[in-house]
Amino acid sequence: MRMLLLGLSLFMMTISNAQQSYLHCGKLIDVKNGKVLKEQTIIVEGNMIVDVKKGYLNPRSKNIQLVDLKKKTVMPGFIDMHIHIEGETGPNKYLEPFTLNDADVAYNAAEIAERTLMAGFTTVRDLGGSGVNVSLKKAIARGKVRGPRVLTAEKALGTTGGHADPTNGYRKELMGDPGPKEGVVNGVDDARKAVRQRYKNGADWIKITATGGVLSVAKSGQNPQFTEEEILAITSTAREYGMQVAAHAHGDEGMQRAVRNGVKTIEHGTLMSDETMELMKQKNSYYVPTISAGKYVAEKAKIKGFYPEIIVPKALEIGPQIQNTFKKAYKKGVPIAFGTDAGVFPHGENGKEFGYMVEAGMPAMEALQSATLTNAKVLKMEKLGQLSAGFLADIVASDDDPTKNIETLENISFVMKDGKIYKQ
Ligand SMILES: [Zn+2]
Repeated sequence: MRMLLLGLSLFMMTISNAQQSYLHCGKLIDVKNGKVLKEQTIIVEGNMIVDVKKGYLNPRSKNIQLVDLKKKTVMPGFIDMHIHIEGETGPNKYLEPFTLNDADVAYNAAEIAERTLMAGFTTVRDLGGSGVNVSLKKAIARGKVRGPRVLTAEKALGTTGGHADPTNGYRKELMGDPGPKEGVVNGVDDARKAVRQRYKNGADWIKITATGGVLSVAKSGQNPQFTEEEILAITSTAREYGMQVAAHAHGDEGMQRAVRNGVKTIEHGTLMSDETMELMKQKNSYYVPTISAGKYVAEKAKIKGFYPEIIVPKALEIGPQIQNTFKKAYKKGVPIAFGTDAGVFPHGENGKEFGYMVEAGMPAMEALQSATLTNAKVLKMEKLGQLSAGFLADIVASDDDPTKNIETLENISFVMKDGKIYKQ
């Protein structure tokens, strides 16, 4: 009995003794109400925000950690809806499938994860790699690797010769015949099996490549690559397994097929027509612009040898159009979910996307809301994206006020995730 009581009281102590921190915030961005508040104190206990008070509250006990952010602007940790956490652009990118083991990919990915977190991105949706992404997600969640909270699509789904066919451009003996297990789908049965396989492998989302893409070794960057029946089989199976579907798309036809058949987010959306924009509003689908990736590939395609030759014309044509599409979609009221496609450009530079969105006409506050409130909603992670009592303590800060100087978000100087400080 005594042992039991002792055990019980120790248990109670650990609950009430969860580390408390008081964060004194010079400015605090209230994304919910679209306001910048002055002189606030955020009270964090364990991994949660328990209160936000006006003024600078002084801790009553020495055990409470005081964090001085009086000279900074404090906001919720950012969420990037589109990154590829396993790797990154570079001259050897197209050789890597032949030279890297999974362990090499994993060590690279661990470094990328830390860089992403230090840039203020406390949650990311990984839209496709080889499967190391699932292991990395677990390692981060267990505290073995420093990185953002990860939701992942594991391996993207494509069709034979399509944007996510992993053996495009190989010589014939190496091509093999990848199928649903490898994420290559031809027909409705394959489509269902590919989704179920992703579920089995530990995916949180399903990603399809609804049209051709820029960086695959293939001719078209925009042709539709799935039938409507295949897409419908994918979205309905995904729903049965509690997952939503994201679609990479540049061309309009493939994009429309995706939206019509229940895809939740359209990635890149380069050649999106007015009709598709209307359809997205009707269906409550979100546009994830990835302007950063468009700008980066267009710029690098001008350097001879940076990309294989078959990619260059696609990059030059598609890349520069994305920002303009974003501008039109924003004006038309298409719901926008912040996402960058980091990996196509160097990880850690995700914050540049804010500047590109503002440059194209979106007010800074709305860009911030997109990367926090909106993304939390799309991901169905209702405890993320706000600085209020009951939300997870994912908190970042910049030296300047981003509503006045958006580029300050490229240099985040304070990062807390789940109540733990990673950068100060
Ligand atoms: Zn991508």
